[in-house]
Amino acid sequence: MKLNAFEFLDNFALMALAAVLYGIILRLDYPRDVRRILGGIMFGVGAAVSMMDPLRVAPGVIVDLRSLFIGFSGAFLGPVAMVISLTIGAVTRYQIGGIGVVPGIVAMTLAGCSGTLWGYLMRNRSRARVRHLLLLGLMLCVGLLAFLLLPPEIRIKAFKNAAPYAAASYILGALLLGTFVERERFYAMRERRLTNEVNTDPLTGLLNRRGFQSGFEAAQEETVSENGAAILLVDLDHFKKLNDTYGHDIGDLVLQSVGATLRKAVRQSDLLARLGGEEFVVYLPNASMADARNIAERIRAGIETSSVASNGSSIKASTSIGGCWSLNAMDLTTGLKRADVELYKAKQGGRNQVRFTPTIKSAA
Ligand code: GH3
Ligand code: MG
Ligand code: MG
Repeated sequence: MKLNAFEFLDNFALMALAAVLYGIILRLDYPRDVRRILGGIMFGVGAAVSMMDPLRVAPGVIVDLRSLFIGFSGAFLGPVAMVISLTIGAVTRYQIGGIGVVPGIVAMTLAGCSGTLWGYLMRNRSRARVRHLLLLGLMLCVGLLAFLLLPPEIRIKAFKNAAPYAAASYILGALLLGTFVERERFYAMRERRLTNEVNTDPLTGLLNRRGFQSGFEAAQEETVSENGAAILLVDLDHFKKLNDTYGHDIGDLVLQSVGATLRKAVRQSDLLARLGGEEFVVYLPNASMADARNIAERIRAGIETSSVASNGSSIKASTSIGGCWSLNAMDLTTGLKRADVELYKAKQGGRNQVRFTPTIKSAA
């Protein structure tokens, strides 16, 4: 059997390409399950492509990187992705045919399962180190057991010819592809974390103004509501006095407690943000006017009744809320302006109250 350097370069290029695609898929703005399915397809296609240019060990018996790709989909993307890539790999191997079909598919299955097991063992680690990747490579070698399924007359010869290359390709491949993939995963996670931080208010964990703006735009694109949408501006009453009386730290605790009350009052699909200081905003992308009024009232009552403990006494705050509702899509600046007018009325009216204005759809 002859080997030349270019065959290894092919494999190297294929691994690098898989890692780049993996990085692109990780950064797609789709739900995690969709990204996993896409990743499974990508690794499956990688496995299929690697079968196009294999080492031919004996007639009908080929060795290539397919088990590596299928193992990786299990290791880095979980069982569903593994089954997808395994299916693509198995169908491809079946169509190539020969006596190695059954052992080949069994080998892929074993590698997929050991990769998935490795991913499970690694679930609590933030980063895979070289020794972990080495372990992954060794675990993928379990697939070599499938040589036992070959007919006895070629079993030994095929194993002697292929096993060292297969084992070396699993271990070196796991180190190389693992380093590439791990790098993509690490940076994609870091990007996600930084984006999150840029959009989050550190005190309350709610969105900040910037996060609210982009969340609002996304919600407007996604939500087609027949009920209408509402904006609520929530501003604590006499908060300066509360700070002056109890100190800034207690003020911060009150702000955190308001954040928790807001979270309890709305649905997962609603947007919550701290616009700055003691001013919060709620966007309800799918709420009738009655719903929006009820939610505003629930928030007001929730803040009035909750308290923060300090030196044995319990400190309470109240809030004024200005809201506006519209049946059709709302412009953020206009919505905030209208809500602010209502908030001003609530303050003028004696605070601790909700004021609301509807914007009825103009007759078409
Ligand atoms: P009103 O009822 O009219 O809204 O009166 P107010 O005192 O709540 O309003 P004002 O805008 O005069 O004061 C807001 C206060 O919020 C001033 C500032 O000390 C306080 N504040 C702003 N940011 C923070 C913060 O991050 N932590 C704390 N503890 N206080 C803050
Ligand atoms: Mg205030
Ligand atoms: Mg204010």
